[in-house]
Amino acid sequence: MSTASLAALVREFKQPLDVTQVNIPDPGPGQVLIRNIACGVCHTDLHAAHGDWPVKPAPPFIPGHEGVGEVVKLGAGVSRIKVGDIVGVPWLHDACGHCTPCTTGWETLCAEQHNTGYSVNGGFSQYSLAAADYVGVIPKGLDPFDAAPILCAGVTTYKGLIETDARPGQWVAISGVGGLGHVAVQYAKAMGFNVIAIDRGADKLQLAKELGADLAYDYTQGDVAAEVQRDVGGVHGVLVTAVSPAAFDQGIALLRRGGTMSLVGLPPGDFKTPIFDIVLARKTIRGSIVGTRQDLKEALAFAAAGKVKAHYTLAKLADINDVFAKMERGELLGRVVLDLQ
Ligand code: NAD
Ligand code: ZN
Ligand code: ZN
Repeated sequence: MSTASLAALVREFKQPLDVTQVNIPDPGPGQVLIRNIACGVCHTDLHAAHGDWPVKPAPPFIPGHEGVGEVVKLGAGVSRIKVGDIVGVPWLHDACGHCTPCTTGWETLCAEQHNTGYSVNGGFSQYSLAAADYVGVIPKGLDPFDAAPILCAGVTTYKGLIETDARPGQWVAISGVGGLGHVAVQYAKAMGFNVIAIDRGADKLQLAKELGADLAYDYTQGDVAAEVQRDVGGVHGVLVTAVSPAAFDQGIALLRRGGTMSLVGLPPGDFKTPIFDIVLARKTIRGSIVGTRQDLKEALAFAAAGKVKAHYTLAKLADINDVFAKMERGELLGRVVLDLQ
C-alpha cells in the first residue's frame, strides 16, 4: 500500500482548497482505515470551507461526509467491521455513547460528538479514518456511488420528513431541490406523501417532477405560499433544505393549521417567526440534524430497494473548487460525487 493519499484541504476560509498529498493515517483503537471510492459533495462542505457558522472548523482540515469506501485496516478492538467491508462515513463521526441523548436513540444530539469533514478529517481524500461503531454498512448490491449521497442527503431528508409528523396521504413541501431536496422528493413519495417541490429554474423543477413531485413551483414567480394555500389548502409538513433565510419565512406561510416545518438548511442568518400566526394556527417549527445510525440504516435500505436514487454527476478531487463555485451559484443539478478511485 502507498503511504500518501491525495486529498483536498481547506487551509484558509474562503480560499480555494489545496489538492495535495497527505500521509495516510493509522487507525487507532476502535477506528478503521478506509480506501475511499466515492464521496458526495454537500453544501455543508462549502459552509465549512467558508467558515459560515458560529462553531468553526480549524484549518487545515479535509471536508467530506458522504464518503464510501473499502475497509483496508482495523485498529485495536474492532470486531463488528472486517477488512474488505464497504462502509460509509457520515457527518456523525462518533458520539460519547453514554450521555442521555446517546442512550435514548438521539446520538445526533450528543454534545461530545465529532463531525466528519469538520472537527475531524473527512472523505475528500483517497484514505480516511472512521469510528467502527458509527460507520454505515453499505447493503450488498448498492453501488458505492449511488450510496454516497445517502450518507448525508439521504439520511438527513428521510429523518427531516419523519420530523414533520406528516402522515401518508398528506401534503409535504420540499423547499430547495438541490442535493438534499431532490433526494427528499423521492423519500417523500416512497413514504406515501403528496409532494410539492419549490426551487427556481426549469431544470430543477423538471427534475423534481421526474422524481415524483406532484406539483412544482418556482419561488421567483409570484406568491408561492398563497398559490399552495389556494391549490391544496396548505401543507401538513414543510422540509426546508434551501440555502436562503427567505425560504424559512415562506415555509411558515406554506403550512396549513397544525402543520410542522422541519428546518434542515443552514444558511447563515435569521428568519421572522410571526407569533400570532404560529400561536393561533398551532404551527410547529422544529430543527432537524442529520440522522441516527438507525435512521441511516433505514435510509440506505430505501436506496438498496431502488426506491431512492440520487441524480449525480462525477468529478475528480482536482475539480473541487469548480464544483464549489457552481454550488455557490446554485448551478448544480442534483449532487456531485467525487470519484476517488
Ligand atoms: P444545494 O446547494 O445542493 O441545494 C440548495 C438548493 O436551495 C439549491 O437548489 C437552491 O437553488 C435552493 N434555494 C436557494 N434559495 C431558495 C429559496 N428561497 N427557495 C427555495 N429554494 C432555494 O445544497 P444541499 O447540499 O442540498 O444543502 C442544503 C442545505 O442543507 C445547506 O445549508 C446544508 O448545510 C444543509 N444541510 C443540513 C443538514 C442537517 O442535518 N440539518 C444536513 C446536510 C445539509
Ligand atoms: Zn451534508
Ligand atoms: Zn453522547
